Order: sequence, then C-alpha cells, then structure tokens
Amino acid sequence: MKKVFILTFLGVTFLSCKKENDLVEVKIPDPEVPVTQTAFGNPADVKVNEGGIFKMKGLKYAYDALAPFIDGKTMEIHYSKHHLGYANKLNKAIAGTDLETKPIEEILSKLDLKNSELRNNAGGYYNHNLFFESLNPKAGGTPSGELEQAIDLEFGSFDEFQKKITEVATNQFGSGWAWLVITNEGKLALTSTSNQDNPLMPNAEIKGTPILAIDVWEHAYYLNYQNKRADYLTAIFNIIDWNVVNAKYELAISKL
Ligand code: MN
Repeated sequence: MKKVFILTFLGVTFLSCKKENDLVEVKIPDPEVPVTQTAFGNPADVKVNEGGIFKMKGLKYAYDALAPFIDGKTMEIHYSKHHLGYANKLNKAIAGTDLETKPIEEILSKLDLKNSELRNNAGGYYNHNLFFESLNPKAGGTPSGELEQAIDLEFGSFDEFQKKITEVATNQFGSGWAWLVITNEGKLALTSTSNQDNPLMPNAEIKGTPILAIDVWEHAYYLNYQNKRADYLTAIFNIIDWNVVNAKYELAISKL
C-alpha cells in the first residue's frame, strides 16, 4: 500500500515537473570559464588572513580535475591547508619589516638562512605557486618551442630528461623538491632541495631560475600512492603544462 502511494506520488511530481520545465530556460555554462567548484570546495574561496601581503593565487582547475594522477582530496588539502599555511606564516614573518615591499624572489635570494620561519614559509609559498601553476588537466606530452631544443641539447632527448629528473626526485631523501632550473650561464640543470629550500636561496647547490618544481613531500602524493613515490613521479608527467614551463624558460633566457 505504501509503495503504491510513493510511486503514485512520484509519478504526479514527475509529470508536473516535466510540464513546468517546458517553460524554464536552462542556462548553458560558458565552456571558457573553468569549473572550479566541486564536492571538494572551490580554490577561489581560499584566502590569506586579512592584511596579508602575499595572496593565494587560485588554481586554474578544480581540485579533482587532475585525477586520476593526483586525487581531489590531496589537491584540496595541499592547496587549502598546506599552501595557505605557508602564505599566512610568510605574511606574519614579514609583517612590519621592510620585506613587505620586496618581491618574493628577492626575499629568497637575500635570505638569512638562520631565520627558519622566513626560510620555510617564503620557500613554501614560492615553491607551491610554481608547482600548482605548472599543472593542468589538459596537459602532459612533451615541450615545444625553445625549451624542446634546450632539453635535447642538454639531456639528449625528452625521455632522457624525464629519466634524469625522476632520478633526482627519487633520490631526494625525505621531504623536498626536484627542480629544472636555468643557471646564470643560461644552461638547463637539474637539482633537488630539502624541505622548502629552493634554487634561489643563498645555500643552493645549483643556483638558478626555477622553471619546473616537483613536490616530493609525502603530503603531495600519500593518499593515492602511499610510499610509492616513483609511481607518483610517473603519473605527474601526464599533467605537467609544458606551455607554462616553456614560457618561463623563454622569459628567464630573455633576462640573462
Ligand atoms: Mn607541498
């Protein structure tokens, strides 16, 4: 009896909805606007504390858009918790000092390494901006333009380059980053750094302008890959935006 009632009720509702829908205009979303609101939340809602100089730059994709290579939950925690934490702590560390007016690159290159609060958080802020910016769900493949030629010249081929940067990232013991940089002599080089250090800092083994940053902290991959860093490193090559990396290459070369 109850079942019959529900079915009848749904039937009536369905019919009346159908009738109303004939009159409702359906707005078709503009495909040029990225859909960033998902079950995981919207990156655009993540803001630094009031008065903070360095802002959250947002993401050009939804948290879950990089799946299956990086899952939505990892991206949400990484951006809205870890990255936000670095940004807020950086802003706190520079508040009221003359660093408030300096670009992040200058803060990093003139860093007092003993100032660990600034070192960790200015590094974390810069490194993550570069990392998130270099990813794109509609990416992967191989570089083109001047970067393609430079990679062939330095590493022999793209495959060799991928093998070498994967080695560098795999061999970074503990938390840190793998980098593709342009040295001050205009050559491509690979290096890794610990924690949130980077190749702009005074202590960098290989100094240069970073054009690609690969995060090898466990927080970047643990939910999906657990201890299998190598699998994460293979996967990430499907979502590296080589147009972004190439643009950074050409800009850095033009400034030498
Ligand atoms: Mn990270």
